[in-house]
Amino acid sequence: MDFDMLGLPPKLLANLAELNITKPTPIQTKAIPHALNGRDVMGLAQTGTGKTAAFGLPLLATLLRIEGRPAPKTTRGLILAPTRELATQILDNLRAYADGTQVRVQLVVGGKSLNAQADRLNRGCDLLVATPGRLIDLIERKAIRLNETRFLVLDEADQMLDMGFIHALRQIAPLLPKDRQTMLFSATMPKLMEELAQSYLTDPVKVETAPPGKPAEKIDQCVHFVQQDDKLPLLIEHLAQHPTEAALVFARTKHGAERLKKKLEQAGFAAGSIHGNKSQGQRDRALSAFREGELLVLVATDVAARGIDIPAVRYVYNYELPNVPDNYVHRIGRTARAGRDGTAVAYCAPVEMGELKDIQKVIGREITVASGESWVPEKRPARSGKGGGGGGRRRSGGGGGGGRGKPAHAAAPSAKPQGQKRRRPRRRGKAAS
Ligand code: AMP
Repeated sequence: MDFDMLGLPPKLLANLAELNITKPTPIQTKAIPHALNGRDVMGLAQTGTGKTAAFGLPLLATLLRIEGRPAPKTTRGLILAPTRELATQILDNLRAYADGTQVRVQLVVGGKSLNAQADRLNRGCDLLVATPGRLIDLIERKAIRLNETRFLVLDEADQMLDMGFIHALRQIAPLLPKDRQTMLFSATMPKLMEELAQSYLTDPVKVETAPPGKPAEKIDQCVHFVQQDDKLPLLIEHLAQHPTEAALVFARTKHGAERLKKKLEQAGFAAGSIHGNKSQGQRDRALSAFREGELLVLVATDVAARGIDIPAVRYVYNYELPNVPDNYVHRIGRTARAGRDGTAVAYCAPVEMGELKDIQKVIGREITVASGESWVPEKRPARSGKGGGGGGRRRSGGGGGGGRGKPAHAAAPSAKPQGQKRRRPRRRGKAAS
């Protein structure tokens, strides 16, 4: 299947060829013909599957057929995305696909001058990519109205809900005409999403790339059972094994991410970080340095990294496991993008056994053990005569002083990334299958 069989106009096909994009991805093959026919689309797809083009190309094709210029302070199509980074990335992709056409694509996101953005909307635009908060600011200032917006895309809708944008969506959606085409893309389909889809979509076609929660097949996943204090030397050892390959490292907190970045710098790695304590400018700079290859290691928190397209990333390290298991799927979705291979390495300390089990439940299988053995909870010494067994097994949130475990089998924290025989995890109860 080639792009020219999907019914896209020659100009867009030529632009895709320029960009070396020749074969549609599965989500593109499934979504584009329906979207070109004006159907509402509900897409279950992670970033990296080519979903921006899956909604962007049919939108551009439709807009190219509309004659005349958009009215001042209006937009014909609106794409809402949860983060500034994702919105910027969508803008870049759409502008590249629309290069040389009359289609005008604009961006409004927080952290940048409101006045400058309002000025740019004066002339009206064909497509507006926006984060919900900033869009509402501009609507309230009467810098933009949505009564002529007949195309709506909600991208990474699950993340928008996670970030509390539901009220913003409820405020924005009624401002658009009812007679419109709506597309919703999401990596997961929580219950609230079904409700959102029901209220905003009309008889949508459902397209998906992989069953919900299942990470791409091409990602090689493994876990190292390692004490928290041994994680840094292990990470350094692993990073040193691929000194020219970019790596994304996930930490759980902003402070943790910053500390880790500094330690990696001290160890001689060109490292940067993106997290909520960094200004937009700092985040943009770190990201472009990472894209350009000036930084080889980027330490990130979940919220900062969601939806960012970093094609070169082959390695994702879960330095700390996420306490929301879906985030594991999003994190490792940063690798093996658009058909490439990727490796996702998780480090699991004794206190993280609960998180690991939850993740394995979500992905529907056990992650291959690369070193160490599954932790068993350590019984607390019964000093006071009280049985103290309860401290070891920690689910998220952790039980007082608990979670200190020791390897069920003495395990060197050294990296044995591949090839080590998989041992059966030793744990009570049924192993996650
Ligand atoms: P997305 O899932 O939209 O974030 O896209 C991930 C990356 O895949 C982007 O860098 C796109 O430029 C690229 N891409 C999108 N569609 C294709 C395709 N059909 N073939 C190769 N690369 C693609």
